[in-house]
Amino acid sequence: MKQLKREFMVDVTAVSELSAADQTLLEAAHEAAKVAYAPYSNFRVGAAVRLASGKIVKGSNQENMAYPSGLCAERVAFFAAGAQFPGERIEAAAVVTDREMPAVDFSPCGGCRQVMLESENRNGQSIRFLMQPGSGEVLISPNVSQFLPLTFRLP
Ligand SMILES: [Zn+2]
Repeated sequence: MKQLKREFMVDVTAVSELSAADQTLLEAAHEAAKVAYAPYSNFRVGAAVRLASGKIVKGSNQENMAYPSGLCAERVAFFAAGAQFPGERIEAAAVVTDREMPAVDFSPCGGCRQVMLESENRNGQSIRFLMQPGSGEVLISPNVSQFLPLTFRLP
């Protein structure tokens, strides 16, 4: 029997160690979290996507009384970028919440991982991905594909 083993690696750093561009991206995600529509979970999440042109597109979670009709912040931002700037490469993205919690407990849901992976595949280049719960350390993934080690693909 053989084994398939994949490693998962993120950098953990303070905001002050980030580049100015990444700090701006994180700030945009925090601004988005402030206006999230999350009356049911009270879990406000903000996301921001930076395009290769430098433009930043924000998203926040948008909940709905009919639960499945809502959408996560990451997908709101990625889909908005695709709709408003079709064909533009996504260089980096960030997701944050205003809630203080352990950084390792804050990462995208499965549906968002699949959507971000498809954006990365369309890009042809990795999407740098930052995660920051509250005001603590930032986790940085060099790509989004490592979040889905066994990926759904159409044959
Ligand atoms: Zn999600």
